[in-house]
Amino acid sequence: MIRVIVTGALGRMGAETVRAVTAADGLQVVARVDPGFARDDGATTNTGECGCGCGETEQTATPRDFATLADALAAVTADVLVDFTRPDVVEENLRCAIPAGLDCVVGTTGLADATLDDLAGRLADGQCLFIAPNFAIGAVLMMQFAARAAAVLPKAEIIELHHDRKLDAPSGTALRTASLMTAAGAADPVPIHSVRLQGFVASQEVIFGAQGQTLSIRHDTTDRTSFMPGVVLACRRVVDATGLIVGLEQFLDL
Ligand code: NAD
Repeated sequence: MIRVIVTGALGRMGAETVRAVTAADGLQVVARVDPGFARDDGATTNTGECGCGCGETEQTATPRDFATLADALAAVTADVLVDFTRPDVVEENLRCAIPAGLDCVVGTTGLADATLDDLAGRLADGQCLFIAPNFAIGAVLMMQFAARAAAVLPKAEIIELHHDRKLDAPSGTALRTASLMTAAGAADPVPIHSVRLQGFVASQEVIFGAQGQTLSIRHDTTDRTSFMPGVVLACRRVVDATGLIVGLEQFLDL
């Protein structure tokens, strides 16, 4: 059984992750972490203590709830951290989880490359830091198709469209797409246009222009469940992986 801690567990992605990991064979959510749990009467909703009153901690299928990752790490044994929090807190969570020996699956976007490199340097032998700007298989394909087209059609622009509560812009997916396209031969930099509007979940269109023609490659996420097969796959694969790994395609046979 792979024991998972989910940070950002009360957020849109974190709550979906708790549901998906709980339903997945061979995975167990042992702790949910979110500052929102501190606002529930200042107490965790499940202390994990054995029901017989002996004071021992019981290993149950019900996750325990904590306001901070440090509190969770002090109280439960886990193999994997899944982080869907905020660009300004994910680094601190990883600086807490890596010395504790957890393999990390990061969906939070906005981490600088230099920070990732620094965190990667702190990994122990056999420990993995996995980060994917997008866990939806369709988005991974969209990025790969765009990189392939960029080798032939170097002039392109990216339009990414997200819900109005997304904190970072451009999106991690757009930055990753641009970097893959540049590596494949696109003009550098690939312009990125960010739209933040109610009604969107996550969409991206890559438009290539050439003499007398355009080519559009578009992906739309209409529901956050689209990310969950990728998150579950990453939880299963990260425990046997090593070092810094970027992009879900590294765990897929595409
Ligand atoms: P959200 O605002 O709904 O949820 C974030 C949660 O993190 C909140 O509940 C907040 O209370 C909690 N939080 C804040 N500080 C924390 C801390 N120190 N420890 C634990 N929890 C903390 O945001 P969201 O829509 O769920 O998105 C979360 C992140 O995931 C964003 O960076 C977003 O861009 C990214 N995202 C990635 C993918 C992907 O496929 N990689 C897909 C969608 C969203």
